[in-house]
Amino acid sequence: MTISQQPVKDRQDYDGASPFPEAGRHAPAGKAHIGLTAAIVVLPFVALGVAIFLAWGQGVVLTDLLLAAGLYVVTGLGVTVGFHRLLTHASFTARPWLRVALAVAGSMGFQGNVIDWVAVHRRHHAFTDRPGDPHSPYRYGTSLRGQLRGLAHSHLGWLFADDQTPAERYAPDLLADPAMTRVARAFPALCALSLALPFLAGWAITGTLYGALTAFLWAGLIRAALLQHVTWSVNSLCHLIGDRPFKTRRHDRSTNLWPLALLSFGESWHNGHHSQPTCARHGLQRGQLDPSAAMIRLFERLGWASDVHWPDHDRTQRHRTAGPRQARAPAAD
Ligand SMILES: [Zn+2]
Ligand SMILES: [Zn+2]
Repeated sequence: MTISQQPVKDRQDYDGASPFPEAGRHAPAGKAHIGLTAAIVVLPFVALGVAIFLAWGQGVVLTDLLLAAGLYVVTGLGVTVGFHRLLTHASFTARPWLRVALAVAGSMGFQGNVIDWVAVHRRHHAFTDRPGDPHSPYRYGTSLRGQLRGLAHSHLGWLFADDQTPAERYAPDLLADPAMTRVARAFPALCALSLALPFLAGWAITGTLYGALTAFLWAGLIRAALLQHVTWSVNSLCHLIGDRPFKTRRHDRSTNLWPLALLSFGESWHNGHHSQPTCARHGLQRGQLDPSAAMIRLFERLGWASDVHWPDHDRTQRHRTAGPRQARAPAAD
C-alpha cells in the first residue's frame, strides 16, 4: 500500500477551491481498504470464471472464448501500444499505416475516441494526483471514506463527471493530423464494428443465429468490459496499491502492480511509466512482463517502428528510490 505521511507543505500548494483538500496527507490503510481494492480486480474475474463454468456447452463455446481472446489482444494493444505509448507519449515513430491501424484497433476498445483519450491521458500526466488530474484516487482526500470515494471516481466515476479536457490544448498535434481526426470521427462506427465482427464470425463458424449471439456476448460485450476494467484499474489501483521502486514528480503516487501485468499488456508497471513517461518499455526492472514493449520490439525488427525510446540503464538507476523495494515512498520532487 502506498500510504505515507507527506510533508504538510505539500498541501499548501493546493488552492482553496481545489477538490483535493487532503491529497497531501494519507490515512493509514486498513485491511478493509486493501480488501475492497483487491476485490474490485479479483471478484469480476472470479465471477467471469463462474459464468463460464455454468454456461459451458450452453451459452458459450471454445470458439467464443478464442474470438474474445483474439479481439482482446488486438484492441488491448491498440490502446496500450497505439493510444498510449505511440500517440500520447511518442515513445516511438510508426509507419503511417501502422499508426492508423493502431489508432483504429484502440478505438475498437470502447474507451472514447483517440484524440480525447490522448488529451485526457496527457492531462493526467501533467497534474498527476493533484488538482487538475481527471482521474486521481486522491481527489476526495485521504481519509478512509475519501479514499474509497476517490477509488470509485478514478476507476469509473470520472467518466460521468462534467470535466472536459480541451483537445486544442492537450492534443493539438493529433487535431492537426487528418488521419487521426478521421479515425476519431469514425469512433462510433468502429465500436459498432467491434461488436459486429464477433457476431459475424460466430455466425460464419456455427451457421446459426444462436452461435452469432453467444459470440457477440462473449467476444463482443464481455471482452470489451474486461479491457475497460483492466484499463481503469491502471488509473485507480496503480495509483493506490503496489510498489514504488522509482522516483516520480511531487504528489505522483503511481505504483507497480504485478498481478495486472499480463492482462494490461505491461501497463500496470505504472510507477516505472510515470518515472520515465516517454520510454517504450514500462516494466523497467528484470523479469517484468511487458507484452506491449515486446510488440514494439517486433515492429522495430520488421522495420515498421523507428526511433524507439528504449530504457537507458544509467537513467533508470538514477530514477530509483532508496532501497530495493519501497512501497511507502513519498512522491519526490
Ligand atoms: Zn497514471
Ligand atoms: Zn502515460
